[in-house]
Amino acid sequence: MFYCVCFFLLHRLKFVSGFCVRLFMSICCIADPEWASYTLGVFVCHSCSALHRNIAQISKVKSLLLDPWSSSQVEFMDSAGNNAVKAKYEQLVPAFYYQPTYKDCMLLREQWIRAKYEREEFLCVAKQEPYSAGYREGFLWKRGRDNGQYLSRKFILSEREGVLKYFNKHDAREPKAIMKINSVNATFQPTKIGTAHGLQITYLKDNSTRNIFVYHEDGKEMVDWFNAIRAARFHYLQVAFPGASISDLLPKLTRNYIKEGYMQKTGPKHTEGFKKRWFTMDDRRLMYFKDPLDAYARGEVFIGSKENSYTVLAGLPSSIQGYHWQFGITIVTPDRKFLFACETEEDQKSWIAAFQTVINKPMLPQEYAVEAYFKHKP
Ligand SMILES: [Zn+2]
Repeated sequence: MFYCVCFFLLHRLKFVSGFCVRLFMSICCIADPEWASYTLGVFVCHSCSALHRNIAQISKVKSLLLDPWSSSQVEFMDSAGNNAVKAKYEQLVPAFYYQPTYKDCMLLREQWIRAKYEREEFLCVAKQEPYSAGYREGFLWKRGRDNGQYLSRKFILSEREGVLKYFNKHDAREPKAIMKINSVNATFQPTKIGTAHGLQITYLKDNSTRNIFVYHEDGKEMVDWFNAIRAARFHYLQVAFPGASISDLLPKLTRNYIKEGYMQKTGPKHTEGFKKRWFTMDDRRLMYFKDPLDAYARGEVFIGSKENSYTVLAGLPSSIQGYHWQFGITIVTPDRKFLFACETEEDQKSWIAAFQTVINKPMLPQEYAVEAYFKHKP
């Protein structure tokens, strides 16, 4: 017998399902999911339901609201549910492995679903070698610094040496760049890079941020690289901070930017005309670029905390001229004022909120050293 589209079913499924947190959640942590995989027994959001359709041999999805459900299917959902399925398929997820939520890009979510259910990587540690072994070597398409053309480059990640490096020629002995793992970050940037698998890798050289942009056609390869970088960072941090707990270290493995987008800026004297630039707020570093895919920032500013005399204000000083965008922002630091203009009020609000998140956070001891470096920068 089939239940029709009814609140009874939805209510029953909600009542019996495992809880992602305390509310009824999809497995990617979105509230009130309207889809479920009736072969796996998990509740999924609309976006992930499409990814489950890509592994139709394992997962078959149905709408909780629109599709008919048999009583045996309801009973199966009853007996499975998110928590039971997680307990089965996520048994051996390494601590460093990135577990995406609905906020993450499609690639991360798709590969997480495939890794769990299709490849069953977390039921068998041998399958985790591509990112757990402490060494990884392979080719990635890397964006050329000057012409923007993507060329195949050999990359080597070595946990033991604590470096990620790449080579311009396949038989080259000397790497073109050696990135120390202690400063490496990796973040998927499909929109900015313009390819679904696009990964931005940053590192510090002489305390300045450098960017490289890479991708691999194969989604698994790209996500394996990402998790291998996280594994190497995890290893480095465990050695560097032996007393720290795993939960303290995990947020430090890789980070997404607090905010990115265009604003206009003027120079230190506040007399030159405002110019449109791409800004990236990476933790306490505010960087600007002429082009979003530039290898180097044109400038970097350290944003400290309110206790250390950093403030953000809406608007610009009344004497200021030369801006076209109407929604001003003034950042006051102990040394000077930085003036920006946003195109819309919404942009202005969201940039101010981004600056507030770091200004409201007290500075960590090691951040004083970074601040001092910025102050004495030539
Ligand atoms: Zn989802």
